[in-house]
Amino acid sequence: MHKKFFVLVSLIVLLHFPFSSADGKVKKVKALGKYDFYHYYLYDELTDYLKDINQSYPQLTELKSLCKSQMGRDVWMLVINNPKTGKPENKPGIFLNQIHSSEVIASMSSVYTIWYLLENYGKKKDITKIVDNLVWYIIPRLDVDGAEAYLTGKPAGKDPNPEDNDKDFKFDEDPPEDIDGDGFIIQMRKKDPKGEMKISKEDPRMMTRKAPDETGGTYYKMYSEGIDNDGDGKINEDSFSTRFLSNRNYPGNWRPNIVQRGGGKYPMEESITRAEVDFAAGHPNIAIYVQHHCCGRVILRPPTTYSDKEFKNRSDLELYKVASARCLEHSGWGLATSVFDWNWPRGTPNRKPTQIYRDKKGKIRNAPQGMYPEEDNSEFGCSSCGWEDESQNDRGYFAWGSSIETMYELFGIFSLADEHWNPPDYNKDGRVTEKERLKWNDEEMEGKMFIDWHLFKHPTLGDVEIGGWRRRKVSPPEGELIQKECEMGNNYKIYLAGLAPQLKFGEAKVTDKKGGIYQVDITVENKGFLPTATEQAQKLNILEPVLLEVEPTDNVEILLGESKVKLGHIKGNSESKKITYMLRVKDSSQKAVLNATVRSQKAGRDSKKILIH
Ligand SMILES: [Zn+2]
Repeated sequence: MHKKFFVLVSLIVLLHFPFSSADGKVKKVKALGKYDFYHYYLYDELTDYLKDINQSYPQLTELKSLCKSQMGRDVWMLVINNPKTGKPENKPGIFLNQIHSSEVIASMSSVYTIWYLLENYGKKKDITKIVDNLVWYIIPRLDVDGAEAYLTGKPAGKDPNPEDNDKDFKFDEDPPEDIDGDGFIIQMRKKDPKGEMKISKEDPRMMTRKAPDETGGTYYKMYSEGIDNDGDGKINEDSFSTRFLSNRNYPGNWRPNIVQRGGGKYPMEESITRAEVDFAAGHPNIAIYVQHHCCGRVILRPPTTYSDKEFKNRSDLELYKVASARCLEHSGWGLATSVFDWNWPRGTPNRKPTQIYRDKKGKIRNAPQGMYPEEDNSEFGCSSCGWEDESQNDRGYFAWGSSIETMYELFGIFSLADEHWNPPDYNKDGRVTEKERLKWNDEEMEGKMFIDWHLFKHPTLGDVEIGGWRRRKVSPPEGELIQKECEMGNNYKIYLAGLAPQLKFGEAKVTDKKGGIYQVDITVENKGFLPTATEQAQKLNILEPVLLEVEPTDNVEILLGESKVKLGHIKGNSESKKITYMLRVKDSSQKAVLNATVRSQKAGRDSKKILIH
């Protein structure tokens, strides 16, 4: 039935993943059930996977197209919802997606989570609960065209807005090519006395820059693999695009290209992210938003354009810190920080007072007080007063127009981004050197990530050597490491989903006041950790207050209390509100019941039949 699916899998494996049966060196069986998370999915396989999932779990899933991409592909969204526990819009929503084309590991993370939730539904209690209580909106890949170009090394279709990089009035006419036909477009080096690079003394695979005043050595010019298609003397200078979406074109604190590359001409110029924001705007039930990225194994939170010191919503900040510390705990990752305070200045180890991090022994440091009581805070003083430290670097990393800023600032959604995968930083100094990558290649990846330099007769350059890293973007993992990385991300997402606000009725207390009069005390609780509205959502005044409605049977009269009561918003962690009614039972020969319903846009709804008499 799914023959095409498997043919496709093996083809991709042949093309992209040399650990497979193609070279006869399969180490172990990779499939989880019928699926394989040991390789990256091209678009057709992603589509087949989602359709297969949808057919396998028709009662729990719906496959939708968010919109069409620039090149006409469907941008898939899988909705996971159990209709037996309610309509999607009546439940807290968790919205997961992935944007950057080359961050293919981040896309696989969603692919894996989809499988994990459905496979374990009805088997694991915690998973059944978060599937039943929430609606999951999952877009494994927003930039479907860009990722396709990245994964195949070929144009993903006809680009409606090609760029003339070399300003010769021709578009995309000089792209790189796999000239030695090994399936990868890597680098070329050619001996040239005028070259600025030389072979490193540390490792002959590494190229290093020569000193400006250095002479007398063997020097090289470097090129990406390919030929000079347009005969202008330059190689690969006008390639097709491998990315169409930026995480700087969202409307939250947006700035144009001139301030920050990727901003674009105006916010929401990119149609796919515009469709994403339209979707979020039209679904006020979305309580949690996560955008997946690579790399660094980091949990990122707002603010993205200013420091924690200026973050006015102190209670939201505390929620972010607690949740992100726990996300580290569940993922096993190393850092939780605001985007603004992340990794800035570049190359600095992430040890700011505002950051929660895992130390070399694996202990989580700097979390809000009480979370890890054994923590020794002496190194940085009081963690929760970190923002008062005047030495904090005010000039952080500005990420204007990012997705999480948009979802939080404009819609008050509790929003995180993540960075899957850590390239091998063996000495944990915050930087990954070429030497560390080579060690990783040699010791952990069986030497398969780096293609050794080999001679090639180039049509115009003559003798060159071709070699280098198989994948750009700090070497995303391959093989079983893909699935391992997905598992880490999945673990924290499962935890995070459990934080969604969730309205529940507590015990109702009925007191017989004699003479047919009854007092009914109704308790409404928020069983989630997140409030029914974040501080930001409340400031924006964009969410309806929690609404309690009661309807008695005909033989009951409400003496005191309204049939509809606005309860405002309810904080998380089982904070509750109590509402008292006085009722008169007109006819005591019949059963008297008060039907109560409570609803909130982000915290779902609950109903209860309260037996009075
Ligand atoms: Zn990214």
